[in-house]
Amino acid sequence: MSERACKICHRVTEEKECEVCKNKDLTRNWKGVLTVYDPESVMGKKGEYTIPGRYALQVF
Ligand SMILES: [Zn+2]
Repeated sequence: MSERACKICHRVTEEKECEVCKNKDLTRNWKGVLTVYDPESVMGKKGEYTIPGRYALQVF
């Protein structure tokens, strides 16, 4: 798996830096994916995921 997860916001990306917070501290050690289509409706966690995309459920 070539995708990595941002250690700060958990965004999953194939790039070298996080598209959301521009963090370069990415890890391959992550598990589970949450796909966000509508950030306002995600599990009542309003504000936590502000940009649609894929996020790791667990980052180690
Ligand atoms: Zn990030």
